[in-house]
Amino acid sequence: MSNIRVGQGFDVHKFAENRALIIGGVTIAHDFGLDGHSDADVLTHAIMDALLGAAGLADIGTYFPPSDEKYKDANSLELLKVVQGLLYDKGFRKIINIDSIIMAEAPKMLRHIPEMKKILAHILSINISQIGIKATTTERLGFVGRKQGIAASAVCLIE
Ligand SMILES: [Zn+2]
Repeated sequence: MSNIRVGQGFDVHKFAENRALIIGGVTIAHDFGLDGHSDADVLTHAIMDALLGAAGLADIGTYFPPSDEKYKDANSLELLKVVQGLLYDKGFRKIINIDSIIMAEAPKMLRHIPEMKKILAHILSINISQIGIKATTTERLGFVGRKQGIAASAVCLIE
């Protein structure tokens, strides 16, 4: 008997000065970084929430509260690894696939996507072909279009 579950995640961080821009574990050269208690890796956070949701677990804010000093400037890739451990403990031992979208007006994400896939696949011990990452602008509409921040969404299938 297989138990296949779908999950979805969504995250937003606003741009801030004097912060590194880290997306999917890749540090991208840009005038602004993303604001947040951790390293504000918006894509990794969306993926974490998708995985937690698929397992019927609480959201990342519950496991890694911003009020906890321990998570100040935390490396989100390490938190992703913790999330995978939580799934494992619940009996969800396999990630079938993850698909995701980065919504950003700037900087351009496309050339960084292969590296993001490589890093995330390595952290989760899955194949690069099991991770989809797409990037889109929002046609200059909304907060993303006004370059106030970056949003990311993700879905996953786990077993
Ligand atoms: Zn976040």
